[in-house]
Amino acid sequence: MYASKQPIDSYASKMTDEKRHSVYDGTSSGTYKRYSVLFKDYEDPDALRKLAGKVKDHTLSHLPKYLEQAEKKLTENGATVHFADSDADARDTVLAILKKHGVKRLTKSKSMAAEEIHLNPHLERNGIECLESDLGEFIIQLDDDIPSHIVKPIIHKNRNEIAETFLREGIAEDLNNDPETITRRARSYLRKKYFEAEAGITGANFVSAESGRIALVTNEGNARFGMAPVPVHIVLVGIEKLLPRDKDFGLFLNLLGRSATGQQLTVYTQFVGGPRHPDQPSGPEHMHVVFMNNGRTDVLKSNCREILRCIRCSACQNVCPVYRQSSGHAYRSVYGGPVGAVLSPILFGDRFAELADLPKASSLCGACNEVCPVDIPIPDLLLRLRDKAKVEKVKSVGALPMAPFAVLATSPLVWRTAMTASKMMNHLPIQYTPVAPLQNWLNQRTLPKWQGGDFRKWMKGRQSETTETKESSKSPSND
Ligand code: SF4
Repeated sequence: MYASKQPIDSYASKMTDEKRHSVYDGTSSGTYKRYSVLFKDYEDPDALRKLAGKVKDHTLSHLPKYLEQAEKKLTENGATVHFADSDADARDTVLAILKKHGVKRLTKSKSMAAEEIHLNPHLERNGIECLESDLGEFIIQLDDDIPSHIVKPIIHKNRNEIAETFLREGIAEDLNNDPETITRRARSYLRKKYFEAEAGITGANFVSAESGRIALVTNEGNARFGMAPVPVHIVLVGIEKLLPRDKDFGLFLNLLGRSATGQQLTVYTQFVGGPRHPDQPSGPEHMHVVFMNNGRTDVLKSNCREILRCIRCSACQNVCPVYRQSSGHAYRSVYGGPVGAVLSPILFGDRFAELADLPKASSLCGACNEVCPVDIPIPDLLLRLRDKAKVEKVKSVGALPMAPFAVLATSPLVWRTAMTASKMMNHLPIQYTPVAPLQNWLNQRTLPKWQGGDFRKWMKGRQSETTETKESSKSPSND
């Protein structure tokens, strides 16, 4: 007996209309903006994304060399470089750095790598106060929630809910849901916190192996606010974020802004080469860069290695019909949507069986591949992971049994008979079928009228018409 629904379907069916609208509106506007900016500025964005894909592929193929180069350059620039193999290593490395510098309070700008290893709870358990400085992440933290989108972590919330949170937390004295007011209130609350912090943690959008420079983009300037007054800056970054040269920044930053938020360039783009020089007036005196593996080298060895090209722009989430109806939380992992459906089961390899349903929750429409700025063939990767689940005999909850269809589709005689007989379906109360997965499927769809066998009849008729025409054109009257 199959469980009634796939986990994503179950989640989506219980979502409130309010949440569904928030997700749908947020993703649609992102897609529309991306489209208008990208195609207005570039005649052939496809050539650019193919080039970006190649640069990333090249980097991944020579990862040890570029990691070594980056380490050397960063060290020459005065930073301390650490390598963390697992999530626990990464958490412990960050904690050890903070302890060494006696840090009790810090601010953190948005970082998927930190989400991936659940850094905040670990630091808090160890007595370190960790404040999210990205507005969306800050609200997530206040609500004890988790992000549901890579770029817009609170895409599932509307402004009324945010106003309620601010009132509850004493950040506001009334329920004003005007976005500008909300932002102003968050800003005045966070500004004080920047000055109380003793360290700042950021991610990195890209790292140049050539110069050791780190590129950081935000729309709120919170990464640089977090760095300006503190003595210690920690960068937590996945090893796949490397680029070979500084000039690659141009290509990737142009693609990132346009793909993520439909901006030509993100509002704040910062390049950090190392800690403060003695002749600079401000900035952290200590910079630590933690390169995190956490399963990435396993992905690199797999047949889904292309997913490591991902620059976390979220364009694939915005355009995905499944994500739009279900939100990122339905994916049960920090990475939701098409990128998550590939990355999560394979990056968190020990959870493969638990997450193997994600690659099946897709119609393989290909929209994700079309928008991806680094040309990741996501539908192909989803098929490879479906195959892996089959080879490893991992059963997914709620998946329709495909074996009967395989018999049908591979036997021409059975197929022909079934197609002709299918017209009977028009007269059967199929919506009352006792097969639960089919019932669920039909609850949400209206089947078109079955017309089985008509195409074959039409084709046969056409073929005989063509033969007759050819025969008559050979008429001897013209000889
Ligand atoms: S897979 Fe492609 S479209 Fe999706 S987040 Fe990554 S880079 Fe963006």
